[in-house]
Amino acid sequence: MLEIRNLQKTYRGGVHALRGVSLRVDRGLFGLLGPNGAGKSTLMKVVATLLEPDAGDVHFDGIDVLAEKTRVRRLLGYLPQDFGLYPSLSAEQMLDYLACAKGVGDRRTRRNLVAATLERVNLSAVKKRRLGGYSGGMRQRFGIAQALLGDPRLLIVDEPTAGLDPEERHRFQNLLAELASDIVIVLSTHIVSDVTALCHAMAIIREGGIVHQGTPAEAVAELRGQVWEKTVPRDLLEAYQSRLQVISTAPSVEGLRVRVLSDGVHPGEVLPAGEDFEPAEPTLEDVYFRYIKAPAPPEEAPDVAQGVA
Ligand code: ADP
Repeated sequence: MLEIRNLQKTYRGGVHALRGVSLRVDRGLFGLLGPNGAGKSTLMKVVATLLEPDAGDVHFDGIDVLAEKTRVRRLLGYLPQDFGLYPSLSAEQMLDYLACAKGVGDRRTRRNLVAATLERVNLSAVKKRRLGGYSGGMRQRFGIAQALLGDPRLLIVDEPTAGLDPEERHRFQNLLAELASDIVIVLSTHIVSDVTALCHAMAIIREGGIVHQGTPAEAVAELRGQVWEKTVPRDLLEAYQSRLQVISTAPSVEGLRVRVLSDGVHPGEVLPAGEDFEPAEPTLEDVYFRYIKAPAPPEEAPDVAQGVA
């Protein structure tokens, strides 16, 4: 289990990137969802022992992550947002090199390890191809392969599906789902559908603070009866925004499909008289927009996960 308590990080230059982040992450796939700039990469780097926070602590299966970095690194796989590849090497050569750097000295052991790892990420058929010729999806699966080399119990993947086409994304999601059966995987993403498809638990981060934590299903269920939808002419959007809590808009042939959130208990009573919206089935995207678009949290965001840990 991964436990993060009250992490704070201010970068030189004054950006307060983490404002007291606390999270508890059990085995399986955990989604950390938030817009660009929310602090996801900063948090991932701290957990991956690559960045020192100003305050707070992180424990993984009883190990103090910030104090025992070397020990944790042996249990940790990390796929950063941008990772370097030698484009002229093949996947097999590069993994062999990385395994060597990790201290797997025996050639035969290394060959078996590399072959098994390539098989796990379904790249065996292209293992001799230059990495420079890999598609985005193949590249990301190779990234997971290098993160898996040491057989980690904690795998951190930072925005892995950004830029993948739908087929590649599905393939990558399947891979993560397979791997998640017996390790902890933290998936940082701004893509809501990654979390919907994969994660048994999630948190939403905004401006360096956790604004929601729970299971996707519970979060969606909480919005039942509160989401309303209607197609409106584009030029009326501002008027709707001024009197209702518009959580998202999507272009449609007739104008804009507007989704509105009302916090009332009884459907039908909650929209001002005269509004003819239709009730809509809530989605995780509604949950996300609700927390991301709500008025900004106070400067020192409340520690919502406190008491859980
Ligand atoms: P995300 O991964 O959610 O996009 P980041 O953790 O990358 O968010 O960034 C959080 C905030 O910290 C942003 O405002 C970003 O500009 C800032 N930031 C990130 N890295 C640095 C850095 N090395 N120096 C200064 N500011 C940074």
